[in-house]
Amino acid sequence: MKKTDYLIVGCGLFGSVLAERITSILKKKVIILEKRDHIAGNIYSHIDPYTGIEYHKYGTHIFHTSHDIVWNYINQFTSFNSYRHQSLAEYKNKIYQLPINLETINSFFNKNYNPDEAKKFITKITKKYRNEKNYNFESKALSQIGKDLYEAFIKNYTKKQWGKDPVDLPGTIFNRLPLRFNYDETYQKNSRWSGVPEEGYTNFVKKLLDNKKIEVKLNKNFDLKNNTYNVKYFTIYTGPLDKLFGYQHGKLDWRSLKFEKKVVNTEDFQGNSVINYPELKYKFTRIHEPKHLHPERNYFKNNKTIIIKEYPKKDNKEPYYPINDLQNRQKQKKYSVTARKVNNFLFGGRLANYAYYDMDMTILAALTLFKKIKKITT
Ligand code: UDP
Repeated sequence: MKKTDYLIVGCGLFGSVLAERITSILKKKVIILEKRDHIAGNIYSHIDPYTGIEYHKYGTHIFHTSHDIVWNYINQFTSFNSYRHQSLAEYKNKIYQLPINLETINSFFNKNYNPDEAKKFITKITKKYRNEKNYNFESKALSQIGKDLYEAFIKNYTKKQWGKDPVDLPGTIFNRLPLRFNYDETYQKNSRWSGVPEEGYTNFVKKLLDNKKIEVKLNKNFDLKNNTYNVKYFTIYTGPLDKLFGYQHGKLDWRSLKFEKKVVNTEDFQGNSVINYPELKYKFTRIHEPKHLHPERNYFKNNKTIIIKEYPKKDNKEPYYPINDLQNRQKQKKYSVTARKVNNFLFGGRLANYAYYDMDMTILAALTLFKKIKKITT
């Protein structure tokens, strides 16, 4: 039996923030078990040895937040560059701004509306869809942007992304997309701060873990039944609950992604870090070009670039997006009840909560859990 004060299962953002807090504030020993061969979970970034370009192995991550507490915390470990995310979509061989803004509306409908006129126009085309009580993804989208924009940019992208008919998805997913009646083309809705860590995400997580009291063990699965750790305070489990409890209430469904990376011999392939492809004729949903995430680096002297095509797929092995339908939510509830019965265990993070968290919400949740831990143990 190996002794530790705290055991953390999962070395993603949630687990790493907690490890940092527990060691630097409470001065306790933490062991982290990580099943992958690297730290940082899905925010892992890596420098491609051939081009020298840093890319995000699990999809482009742009940090954004309006929470002072999160921004102040994260800035102790990394500075951020000036990158501002703007997304674009290609539809019928033409590029449009995304999220839908005044430029998208005018360009798509071949108009020259000012903000008031655009609002009036959208109000008119959405009126007949605004009569529901419980909006699903499709009815929510129709009530906000109308049929034509929905069918061009949203419907088929969403089908590809989730592998489901949009009527079977919750309206809340659509709420992630801002709708603007001005020319603001930044992606993150109402975020006071945003950017990409100047030294990359992996180096940021390395800094979180840079404490002698933290021991990270890679390639290590955690098994509740054959637990060989003697934990003084708590085990904090950040993986999926169905796996931990032997799938006793059934498997939780996740949507997964496959990334196809390619080096292209050109300085700039698409002129933007991400372009979305909503049409069904493309099997992928987006093309990422990570070079653009670091305008402060010398990447553009290089006549090579990396592009990464993103293909959604069904898979529980690499869980990305929780399929938050009723059945799955009910299963997760049962697992939460089971989890509460395990003594000296705490749970949290995207996987354990079966939640679609942005990075700042993950940090906020970890800091909140730390407060609780601090209260109990001091
Ligand atoms: N979406 C879409 N078309 C797009 C981008 C997004 O239909 O071009 C929908 C899709 O259902 C997606 C949701 O909006 O799951 C939320 O988009 P977001 O960009 O927040 O997804 P993420 O970047 O987290 O994958």
